[in-house]
Amino acid sequence: MKRTKIVATLGPASSSAAVIEEMIKAGADVCRINFSHGAYDIVLEQINTIRSLNKKLGKHTAILADLQGPKLRIGVVENNGVELVAGKEVTITTNECIGTAEKLYITYPQFPKDVNVGENILIDDGKLLLTVVSTNGIDEVKAIVGHGGTLSSKKGVNLPNTKISLPCLTEKDLKDLDFALTHKVDWVGLSFVRSAADIIELKHLIQNFDHNVRTRVVAKIEKPEAISDIDNIIKETDALMVARGDLGVEVPMQEVPVIQKMLVRKCLEASKPVIIATQMMESMITNISPSRAEVNDVANSVMDGADAVMLSGETSVGNHPAKVVAAMTKIIEHVEQESDVYNRDNAAPEVDIHNQRFLSDSICYTAAKMAQRTNAAAIVTMTHSGYTAFKLSSHRPKAEIFVFTDNYDILTTLNLVWGVRGFYYDKNISTDHTIADIKFILKKSGEVKTGDLIINIASIPLSEMGKSNMIKLSAVE
Ligand code: PEP
Repeated sequence: MKRTKIVATLGPASSSAAVIEEMIKAGADVCRINFSHGAYDIVLEQINTIRSLNKKLGKHTAILADLQGPKLRIGVVENNGVELVAGKEVTITTNECIGTAEKLYITYPQFPKDVNVGENILIDDGKLLLTVVSTNGIDEVKAIVGHGGTLSSKKGVNLPNTKISLPCLTEKDLKDLDFALTHKVDWVGLSFVRSAADIIELKHLIQNFDHNVRTRVVAKIEKPEAISDIDNIIKETDALMVARGDLGVEVPMQEVPVIQKMLVRKCLEASKPVIIATQMMESMITNISPSRAEVNDVANSVMDGADAVMLSGETSVGNHPAKVVAAMTKIIEHVEQESDVYNRDNAAPEVDIHNQRFLSDSICYTAAKMAQRTNAAAIVTMTHSGYTAFKLSSHRPKAEIFVFTDNYDILTTLNLVWGVRGFYYDKNISTDHTIADIKFILKKSGEVKTGDLIINIASIPLSEMGKSNMIKLSAVE
């Protein structure tokens, strides 16, 4: 089974139970619900569908609710298409109006205050470029068109040079967050993260919503400010997304591949899952197979060590939502079989007995090393919080990572994490009994066979439910 996970975005092409089921069977591990689109009744139906399919198929498909964040847009334009001509001046106003080739509305009231002369305005994924020539500081900005072209209604705007004063969570985001937390999604994505403070704020909101909600945070990296504060963001977040769509507009496009590799490396060192997103299999929105460059892009992301690769338009509005997941699975499986993506000595713990995680970090690191030396078939961890699963995964062992937990919610959360496969287990008799029982379960389900070596990590005594402090190596009889 593949180790790198697939995130599939739901949309009109993939909201029915039949298509979601096909995508899960083809290898989708996480369904992403994009709150930029989609009414709550549709989203709720998607959530219920995923959960009932999990029961039907015995899967743990995770749900990622992606908040739109402070996305800037141009308003409606006349005839849904106006021609911006290079060299011409355009007024951008914060007073709502139907846009023309001379005057456009922007959904960002502070724009005239925040922007400076000489800064760039990129519209429609950077297809159109304007440069600010003046601002009245109140409601109007004048700009000269650099690259012109046809502009249709409600296109996105990127301001790579401007310090945007909008909060990281808009009113819409707060409502969407409330909805997502009410329905206990596994992950919530925050768009246009600028600093670690954004993540801290979101985590406070989640904690204050309900102490029992364990929803975790994915920081979407798509702004240059986020790159400047990346170490702090990685420290605060639970996972990262390399959101290459907006990132490739906000920073010069040629910088994206190097940034992607840097982010994957830092996440591996910090044991935080990382998702590579956008245009991975774009041509399959219409075509039946991906371009050679797309195959390479997915393969290289797997080789770099990403936890997950993501599909956006390919599954949300594309013609072949299940086929694109199947094609991605094929690429991942081949790369994982034929290239050495394992045992890369990530996240070696520093010897520091004052660090309360030192013992369990060392146990995970040593278990992975032992698996490498002994060619063990599996490392099995028992966890309530999921901590050891994240840690073990970041060592990228070739051995399977099986997680046994009495915490149902963590099973779906961990479905995003590289190589992790979860099992619900709530018996708690003794360590010896549990280890023997787990071996029996794994053998019965065909995951391991007689003669295989298994490494168990656990906390003894089991009844204390403490941090992992034990490793056992044994053979399956
Ligand atoms: C991106 O910009 O790459 C991205 C994933 O963001 P979204 O699809 O939410 O605009």
